[in-house]
Amino acid sequence: MNLELSEEQEAVRRLAEDFVAREVAPHAVAWDRAEEVDRGIVRKLGAVGFLGLTIPEEYGGSGGDHLSYCLVTEELGRGDSSVRGIVSVSLGLVAKTLAAWGDERQKRAWLPRLASGEAIGCFGLTEPGTGSDAGNLATRAVRDGDDYVIDGGKMFITNGTWADVVLLFARTGGPGHRGVSAFLVPTDTPGLTRRPVHGKLGLRGQATAELVLEGVRVPASALLGPEGKGFSVAMSALAKGRMSVAAGCVGIAQAALDAAVRYAGEREQFGKPIASYQLVQEMISDIAVDVDAARLLTWRVADLIDRGQDFATAASKAKLYASEAAVRAANNALQVFGGYGYIDEYPVGKLLRDARVMTLYEGTSQIQKLIIGRALTGVSAF
Ligand code: FAD
Repeated sequence: MNLELSEEQEAVRRLAEDFVAREVAPHAVAWDRAEEVDRGIVRKLGAVGFLGLTIPEEYGGSGGDHLSYCLVTEELGRGDSSVRGIVSVSLGLVAKTLAAWGDERQKRAWLPRLASGEAIGCFGLTEPGTGSDAGNLATRAVRDGDDYVIDGGKMFITNGTWADVVLLFARTGGPGHRGVSAFLVPTDTPGLTRRPVHGKLGLRGQATAELVLEGVRVPASALLGPEGKGFSVAMSALAKGRMSVAAGCVGIAQAALDAAVRYAGEREQFGKPIASYQLVQEMISDIAVDVDAARLLTWRVADLIDRGQDFATAASKAKLYASEAAVRAANNALQVFGGYGYIDEYPVGKLLRDARVMTLYEGTSQIQKLIIGRALTGVSAF
């Protein structure tokens, strides 16, 4: 794995850094307090090409490799995890999965719109009764002539109230993951209603929703991939998605490091900057090691994908490590800030609140350990 960025990759990273400094960072606290990111950010993300990374240009994408995608995701995560999540879901989970599994008509219908930010995607797997055990989902899609009729509900759906299309997982067959199929469902389809989820600990600016599906009729052409292969579609999406979450976590940890170093140099106690105390340096060096380790694990996933190698276990390792590291890093930074860290005038409290969900979604830390353990032992402990 080459650890030196190419000129092109460095240019993408700088573009993302500038974009975040101009369009994201100045608003992040206000969006967090208002519990709403300005929706105009989506078109801006599309215009700069960040919603089309790795998507072929013939489908309106901006191309590029997965390391470039990680660099952009890291910078967005450094600025505001709510904005990072818009890209991770609409591009990382929906558009990339459509590019991999969609037929020509589906790709032409949705990819240019998703890549430009004209449309937003959301990923509907979790249900009120099934989270980690996603293969057991209860939402049903019943064949009726040339259509399917879908009934059920989805929970905690990122971009849910904003999205134009849901990549939705529903049961078309018997119990277990072999009975699951994937569908592309436009959110204006009659019978689909959305309720915002409020009161989140972090990611407050993000549009999270519960979806209710009552007699939602879609043509058979809405199937993404073959009937009964929906769980494979979901798992392939999440494997790449975990790299995206990991990159966002590197951004959080880097932001925690930057804030802690700056503050430790400015704040004086006992007549000296707190940076001069060994116990403060210990906290800062712990954050720095977490940043480096999380970034290297994440870049390895991008490198494996770009070289066409197996990457699913590496993605679980990166997601597990980076998410736990982001929580540790933000918590350490808050400690460096003392009481001021507890007040939202300073950035570290938000970093900790935003980091906390990372060990929960796209597979909890426990689920990542089971995936890694299964790959090592050949025994499933699920
Ligand atoms: P549960 O599965 O009920 O788990 C509860 C606890 O039990 C956890 O600690 C878990 O690790 C543990 N546990 C469960 N099974 C095992 C086991 N076999 N062995 C050991 N421990 C176990 N979902 C989507 O589909 N799309 C989205 O866009 C999306 N966005 C989200 C945004 C937010 C802000 C949040 C909070 C969630 C989002 N989710 C989304 C859902 C998320 O992926 C789930 O919350 C997550 O998978 C965990 O499921 P659960 O909450 O039902 O917890």
